[in-house]
Amino acid sequence: MSDGRALAREFLEQQRLLGGDWVVLPEGQATHGTPDTPGLRPGSVSPPDSSLTPGASPGQHRPPSTPGLRPGSVDAPEIPPGLSYDPPGGDLFSNDPVPQAGSLAAIAELVATCAKCRLCEARRHTVPGEGAADARLVVVGEGPGRVEDETGRPFVGPAGELLTKILAAIELPRERVFICNVVKCRPPENRVPQYDEIAACVPYLFRQIELVKPAVILAMGGTAAQTLLNTKQSLGALRNQVHRLRGIPVIVTYHPAALLRNPNWKKPTWDDVRIARRFIG
Ligand code: SF4
Repeated sequence: MSDGRALAREFLEQQRLLGGDWVVLPEGQATHGTPDTPGLRPGSVSPPDSSLTPGASPGQHRPPSTPGLRPGSVDAPEIPPGLSYDPPGGDLFSNDPVPQAGSLAAIAELVATCAKCRLCEARRHTVPGEGAADARLVVVGEGPGRVEDETGRPFVGPAGELLTKILAAIELPRERVFICNVVKCRPPENRVPQYDEIAACVPYLFRQIELVKPAVILAMGGTAAQTLLNTKQSLGALRNQVHRLRGIPVIVTYHPAALLRNPNWKKPTWDDVRIARRFIG
């Protein structure tokens, strides 16, 4: 199989995993599809949208399935502005070490011995987050699950594998992204973290974002979105807008674990992720 075909096959497999639509080609072009390429139906289809893939030229087809994103133009889509949140910074004169932590490693050290909330009681490992210190994208989830608690790493297990595929689909190797959660210790039985637990833990997250200085933040799931934007609005209400956290764009989408439960959310997630990709450059 040629390099081109291998790339097409990989691309289409990613699209299929993400729930991408089939795109019907005019008669005749379908024969360009490879019969052995997953996702290609001889005689009917081609790869879906590539307009946000690096190298795509302006004006290429974009699917019309993302509401409110491109009124009047496919080349200069307008994404509505959303909420803007500027959380208070650390007090330079306080003894709190979190705002003064000078590196991601320093934050991880603080987290490792943290007992600021009840989630420290049953944890096996803290999960501070991992990835590139100069990442252009920060992914924020809710909290560690069972496998994360066992390994001390964020987004591992089936949901983590799906996240890795989502990132690969926008040509971002996982290692180039900083991945973390709102709370750094596993809530019992994977319950939603409670308000006081989030309040105790969120200074770590804000300091991590401050240090990484990403071009964009992807908030995966309602807890991440509501925490980052200091709102009680639902995830559905927060999607399809560009919010801001201290001026950094925040895009809201579904958590990969939710996608595993409801594959119908893969397509809207794919739309959201491509919006985030545009800020990375
Ligand atoms: S969840 Fe956060 S605040 Fe609570 S003990 Fe763990 S690191 Fe500390």
